[in-house]
Amino acid sequence: MNEPILTIVVPCFNEEEVLPKTISEMDSFLTALISENLVSNMSKILFVDDGSRDGTWSMIYKESLNNQHIKGLKLSRNVGHQNALLAGLFTAKDASDCVVSIDADLQDDIKVIRDFIEKFNDGYDIVYGVRQGRQTDTFFKRSTAELFYKVMGMMGVNIIFNHADFRLMSKRALDELERFGEANMFLRGIVPLIGFSSTNVYYDRKERLAGETKYPLKKMLSFAFDGITSFSITPIRLVLMIGFLSFLISLAFGAYFIGLKFFGETETGWTSLITSIWLIGGLQLIAIGLIGEYIGKIYKESKRRPKYIIDIDTFNLPLPRHLIN
Ligand code: UDP
Ligand code: MG
Repeated sequence: MNEPILTIVVPCFNEEEVLPKTISEMDSFLTALISENLVSNMSKILFVDDGSRDGTWSMIYKESLNNQHIKGLKLSRNVGHQNALLAGLFTAKDASDCVVSIDADLQDDIKVIRDFIEKFNDGYDIVYGVRQGRQTDTFFKRSTAELFYKVMGMMGVNIIFNHADFRLMSKRALDELERFGEANMFLRGIVPLIGFSSTNVYYDRKERLAGETKYPLKKMLSFAFDGITSFSITPIRLVLMIGFLSFLISLAFGAYFIGLKFFGETETGWTSLITSIWLIGGLQLIAIGLIGEYIGKIYKESKRRPKYIIDIDTFNLPLPRHLIN
């Protein structure tokens, strides 16, 4: 049997603090896999620099000059985790039998990749790394994550619980992934849509080894919001239903006040007037905002902008002259 060619893709954004450790751990791990004949000697680790402003790229680049198993991809600017990951996956796929994606901060247990390979050899095209528990997360991260999965479930979006972007994909799964042309590639939602045989491998997630999270609250919220609105029109239906409901309520109110006029005392009050104005006004603003969100999505998709631009690629291309010395 021929050992599969594995590429491990690692998106990195301002990771100079953790990168030396990540590079050495991943390198010795890959060396072990190769020496045990579990993967081919052509296997590589591809670090994607997502427009970092610190020493991340120079570390990757230097390492790639000394070590044939380490390659680097430098994006022209910061495009975010998901797009950086895509850049790595699509760059690596043609020269690989399977590709594993993993974060740079060593939170995910790299040893689990052994199980990924085993499942791949068993014939699975997609292997999801699923976190056993969330003990190492802060209470805040844990509860927001739970809320996210709940809301996604309610909206009818099928994503794998407690799976982040630690997964293996076969070359043919990646070929299919490439055909999904949408501008907003929310991978956890899209990968299950490929539909090839898939399985889960469970592991414990550790704490970030060094550096700070690159997903502050603001990014987390926009990630969650994008995930929901890209995959579901339930929110907009909800608005429609609320609209109907408030219409019915205002009908009932109207009937009530007309009744009062004829059969009771007419109380011409501020309160009812003001409350209904605010109620309806508020509902309308929500509705317009939500519709705007979807129209914004259409606008974004219709432009078909490239999701990332590669500045330097030491994986497939020979290095430009000025970089060889
Ligand atoms: N990352 C990236 N581009 C960004 C933000 C993050 O490539 O704009 C990378 C980051 O370097 C890390 C991974 O995405 O390898 C996940 O980020 P992080 O560990 O900060 O997220 P968390 O684990 O806190 O959710
Ligand atoms: Mg992390």
